[in-house]
Amino acid sequence: MVNDMSTENIEEYRHKLRHSAAHLLAEAVLKRHPQAKLTIGPPITDGFFYDFDIDITFSPQDLATLERDMKRSIKRNTKFERKEISKNEALEIYKDNPYKIEIINSMPEDEIVTEYSHSDGNFIDLCEGGHIEKTGEIKAIKLLSTAGAYWRGDEKNKMLQRIYGTAWESEELQQDYLDKRKKAIESDHRKLGTSLDLFFLDPISPANPFFLPNGAFVYNKLIEFVRNLYEKYDYKEVITPQLFSTDLWKQSGHYDFYLENMYMMEIDENEVGVKPMNCPAHAIIYQSTLRSYRDLPLRLADFGRLHRYERSGVTHGLTRVRSFSQDDAHIFCDKKDAGSEVKKFLEMLRESYSAFGFEQPRLTLSLRPEKRAGDDRMWDLAEEQLRDVLKDFDENFEEIEGEGAFYGPKIDIFIPDVMGREWQLGTAQMDFSLPERFNLEFINTKGEKERPVVIHRAMLGSIERFIGILLEHTSGDLPFWLAPNQINIVPISEKHIDYAKKLSDDLLDKDFRVVVDESNERLGQKIRNSEMKKIPVMIIVGDKEMETDSGSVRTRKFGDLGNLDKKDLIEKLLSF
Ligand SMILES: [Zn+2]
Ligand SMILES: [Zn+2]
Repeated sequence: MVNDMSTENIEEYRHKLRHSAAHLLAEAVLKRHPQAKLTIGPPITDGFFYDFDIDITFSPQDLATLERDMKRSIKRNTKFERKEISKNEALEIYKDNPYKIEIINSMPEDEIVTEYSHSDGNFIDLCEGGHIEKTGEIKAIKLLSTAGAYWRGDEKNKMLQRIYGTAWESEELQQDYLDKRKKAIESDHRKLGTSLDLFFLDPISPANPFFLPNGAFVYNKLIEFVRNLYEKYDYKEVITPQLFSTDLWKQSGHYDFYLENMYMMEIDENEVGVKPMNCPAHAIIYQSTLRSYRDLPLRLADFGRLHRYERSGVTHGLTRVRSFSQDDAHIFCDKKDAGSEVKKFLEMLRESYSAFGFEQPRLTLSLRPEKRAGDDRMWDLAEEQLRDVLKDFDENFEEIEGEGAFYGPKIDIFIPDVMGREWQLGTAQMDFSLPERFNLEFINTKGEKERPVVIHRAMLGSIERFIGILLEHTSGDLPFWLAPNQINIVPISEKHIDYAKKLSDDLLDKDFRVVVDESNERLGQKIRNSEMKKIPVMIIVGDKEMETDSGSVRTRKFGDLGNLDKKDLIEKLLSF
């Protein structure tokens, strides 16, 4: 059935297959719970769901039972049959189901209403179609999870019970998918946030993470890492206010274009806004004194906390939050130097990404959009500069017409993760508009006033989001230099604790981050705990190690390194 299909057709076929599976689920639920009210059951990426109005929550056992019933229905291999009815008939048939009535009433007056049945007419559902021919075409099916879901996604409506499932045209494909899904669940940064004691979220401040000591350590270490690069690449760090008068947001354009994402409040009867970006504050710093060509390029870095309102439906773990800091910087420079500035930035970026073990990033160059600030001559110059820089950096970059910001062309940097997804991390955006809006100038070599250009750039982007991505990318196995606890010393029994502490002191002297497991657990449990916490290095010490002043080393990255005497051990650790 699926052989010889194009990718597009396969996806279309799977949509039908999965939506049909949703009908089978509804059939199974109604058989066990005749009082349940059916609502909708669409296909989604890799599966389907169905929402039921029912006064129970489904247990894992319920799912197993329902899945068995669905498989029986598949085995009967009955036909999906379409039936047309009038709107009035439909309103009569579904009069006890307010959800279906709402759907029917929302249809255009002259539209034909359809029902689909299978199991020889024993199950019928109001549905606009998109089905396979016979239930037997579903070769693999699995119910995966349950969730509460509001009718129409609106929290003012009743909470429905949703069941998620997947269905495939072969057992192998389903198994592949389930394996991948398992890996994704294990690498989910929200889960790792809890199991590695990094962070959590609490409804008391939605989408604003609480970083625990381990998480705060990683956070600060990342900032320290970026600060070291800033020193090398001659950036100057500044600290800027959190609140600004509306006057600033009007001048910057945020008041007209970004207000719905901003937190506004009133102080001393004046309207103020919490900053969603640092750029306007940096423009104020630039303006604060007369600038000459000798001051440029001026590279201002800022880890200031930003707040952007995001709807609760789109916030997610650390990857989409309402409050965050970026490794943000703005480069103010002569137009003719913009290319070389972006080049230096890309070199710094390459240096930073290699520290995280990221694959070769993919780069895109987004060119002028239809609606834009600045004249064509400026755009020509800017695009040409970025194109030249990119050719040097990675000739496989991709140009995208019309996708630039209204204020200038931009480079975006993407990295692939272990799941084959892609994340945008870094960006470099030229901006002609901000210097215009803030009337920024410098005295050029001829003693004349000239407008600089601004480059917005970030390597890691939001630190919060970066931590989320890095956790998923590494499944929680952070690079040695970034791990909050690098070494776990595990004494085999109580009598080895003193030696473990002595070894720990020696390693602490070398600035390693070390913990000693002094718990009363058995050795096997201590080893499992260390693995669960994903501590990069475990050193097991017993009688032999005590006698020879050594340690038995196991690493997550390089496996078992055997017994090493203290000197070799330290040397090895220093090489990580
Ligand atoms: Zn249907
Ligand atoms: Zn900016």
